[in-house]
Amino acid sequence: LLQLYQPLNFFGVVYREIKQALIDVESMVTLLSVDREVADRPGAPPLAITGGELRFDGVEFGYDPRRPILKGVSFTVPAGRTVAIVGPSGAGKSTIGRLLFRFYDVSGGGILIDGQDIREVTQQSLRGAIGIVPQDTVLFNDTVYYNIAYGRPGASPAEVEQAARLAHIHNFIMALPDGYETTVGERGLKLSGGEKQRVAIARTILKNPAILLFDEATSALDTHTEREIQANLREVSRGRTTLVIAHRLSTVIDADEILVMEAGRVIERGRHMELLSRGGAYAALWARQQESSQGPEPVPEVL
Ligand code: ATP
Repeated sequence: LLQLYQPLNFFGVVYREIKQALIDVESMVTLLSVDREVADRPGAPPLAITGGELRFDGVEFGYDPRRPILKGVSFTVPAGRTVAIVGPSGAGKSTIGRLLFRFYDVSGGGILIDGQDIREVTQQSLRGAIGIVPQDTVLFNDTVYYNIAYGRPGASPAEVEQAARLAHIHNFIMALPDGYETTVGERGLKLSGGEKQRVAIARTILKNPAILLFDEATSALDTHTEREIQANLREVSRGRTTLVIAHRLSTVIDADEILVMEAGRVIERGRHMELLSRGGAYAALWARQQESSQGPEPVPEVL
């Protein structure tokens, strides 16, 4: 039995190592599940960013052609503005993010950045122009420095530090035992959710993308963390075209436009107060979140 146990135990260790490595990669790129078979058009030029306007124009899409998921979705995020997408689970919110990265091609309509259809430009330039800040960042098992510098390979230490300062994480890092050389991640120093997110924000600031995709965690957070995240979002989205995929409502209050999606369609749109006074789907979602939360400062649950 022992003869059998040892190799099995060995494989167990190897399996755990591989799994951890996969988790690291996977969690870095929440939306980037698997690279699909979309290919660059031969001779496609790089995306030319002029301001960063993002437009979905009658977008239709289904993972399976027999089951449409997005049924003619249109919206524009003017350069530097913020649009938030809300709606019940399965409405198609995250799908919009995946299409923006062109992990799949639309089956109808088009997605345009500064007037260029994303199918007509290189994927490398497209993905280089978009930054993602997931709310449940998992860091690489490496130094804090590495985790930030990853945003732009070749960045100088001064640039990494400047990004950390802008993300309000520099002082925290300097107080760590080995400063920027401190190992973080699952096998290193464990950071709080807010600290991890600020590291991710520093990475995004370093990347300096014209377009930002803020993919909100589905889990409910405590009021303090929620506030911190809202502040972080404001910080990193300043001057960038921002699309927030929201699973709770508290992060969307400041958005320039809120899109309410249901079953693959935008059924309402407007600003927070407008939508509340309209007394429609958004107002109902809002009321439901208020009910399901407890205490004077509601932390809404997953929609
Ligand atoms: P949630 O708030 O729960 O995250 P969502 O609005 O983001 O939901 P999507 O993740 O965009 O919803 O999913 C929309 C629909 O597409 C769902 O019915 C889902 O089952 C389906 N779907 C999502 N990903 C895939 C996939 N990779 N293959 C097939 N179907 C998928």
